Amino acid sequence: MVVPYTHEPFTDFTVEENRQQMLHALKKVEKDLGKEYPLIIGGERITTEDKIVSVNPANKEEVVGYVSKANQELAEKAMKVADQTFETWRKSDPKFRADILFRSAAIIRRRKHEFTAHLIKEGGKPWKEADADTAEAIDFLEYYGRQMLELKDGVKINSRPIEYNQYHYIPLGVGVVISPWNFLFAIMAGTTVAAMVTGNTVLLKPASATPVIAYKLMEVLEEAGMPAGVINYIPGPGKEVGDYLVDHPRTRFISFTGSREVGTRIFERAAKVQEGQKWLKRTIIEMGGKDTIVVDNEADLELAAESIVQSAFGFSGQKCSACSRAVIHEDVYEEVKDRVVELTKELSAGNPYDNSHFMGPVIDQGAYDKIMDYIEIGKQEGELLAGGSGDNRIGWFVNPTVFGNVSPEARIMQEEIFGPVVALTKAKNFDEAIEIANNTEYGLTGAVITNNRTHLEQARQDFHVGNLYFNRGCTAAIVGYQPFGGFNMSGTDSKAGGPDYLIHHMQGKTSSEML
Ligand code: GLU
Repeated sequence: MVVPYTHEPFTDFTVEENRQQMLHALKKVEKDLGKEYPLIIGGERITTEDKIVSVNPANKEEVVGYVSKANQELAEKAMKVADQTFETWRKSDPKFRADILFRSAAIIRRRKHEFTAHLIKEGGKPWKEADADTAEAIDFLEYYGRQMLELKDGVKINSRPIEYNQYHYIPLGVGVVISPWNFLFAIMAGTTVAAMVTGNTVLLKPASATPVIAYKLMEVLEEAGMPAGVINYIPGPGKEVGDYLVDHPRTRFISFTGSREVGTRIFERAAKVQEGQKWLKRTIIEMGGKDTIVVDNEADLELAAESIVQSAFGFSGQKCSACSRAVIHEDVYEEVKDRVVELTKELSAGNPYDNSHFMGPVIDQGAYDKIMDYIEIGKQEGELLAGGSGDNRIGWFVNPTVFGNVSPEARIMQEEIFGPVVALTKAKNFDEAIEIANNTEYGLTGAVITNNRTHLEQARQDFHVGNLYFNRGCTAAIVGYQPFGGFNMSGTDSKAGGPDYLIHHMQGKTSSEML
């Protein structure tokens, strides 16, 4: 019997001992900077000439690792291995598979700060955010392991006296997992092991900005007893390797987390039935958000301001759950706005190394340029109240930015920026606030700050988002507590860390035997 699931606690870095341990882990991780990492196909290490260079976004000169880059030929080789391995892996004992996840969680937990230190370097994450990312990776392993144990014998169905009916879930086949750089550990690990623990074999193509952490997960899974060929590590360019595998007739499903642009591209390509393909591919796609915090007039206004600031600027707003718009009742708009600006001005962006800044860098030059462009657009569309500047000389730093008096239809109110930018707007009443909150093409997270029970219940019905929070911020879902995923253009609402997630990676098989 496994103990019941509870989420991994966060580290309190105000405790001096924890702080020292983290600094020590950072020193340790620094020794590994600039190392080379091969591909892993069928357990075999393959080194290519061509490399992905993973850099520390807080210091562009610091190379985290040189990672071998797959091409179509290697992707094909990996597909063949995964396809063959599926024939044995699909029959493996689900308990054996779950145990690999539990052992992996234990390995990571023992070396927790070391992984966190790596995320600080490769993802540019502030300590608190990096620690939460490691904790969430552990949570996914622990939670999906347990979920598999619950599903392994299928679900009870009815039988008549003359028959014996059974209903089981069986795996799908080869899955292509394309993971994001923002939760470089947690989402990468979660999507990968969900596909694997359900009996599928996997082709893992991590984000090109953060491939090293995925190699480290491979090492952990191998140490925990995962057989060769079950997960194959093939970082490479999206257009070349990603498209090739999405289109491949032997691909059975695709699990993607990332931008709306790439997500819709994958969705379209996966829909095309290729020559020799004998199934309809399944897609599990999680994309962006344009997430709103609604502030009512009967509300704790300090809580409202804090929730907006934390949700907008945590990890520099690079979460699909980040608050990028706040809709505030006009009676309290001025007060909330002033407090948001005050709190924002207390924050700074800088190298997360010594934990002295609330924010770190954004991930790369492309992200920096995109965010700075949106800041220029924001200056036309609203009133710049805080921030509005960046510095990309050493790393890609953007200061936390607040715009006020923005029209609900403005581009910065509609388009995902994926950076530390929040737009504030006024609503005449609660009905209008919910209407504005729903006026985007996305539907991922949202929060309502109110002491009015009727309004809260109204929001529960009408605020159309996959993750709705009351009297708190709109980020930081916990595995097993707040299953995470969104509506509309936010994705397929597959609810990572929730009780139905694994079933997306399987298919139901009914057997009925005459007695
Ligand atoms: N699960 C994360 C949260 O609740 C966000 C995931 C993402 O940004 O992709 O904040």
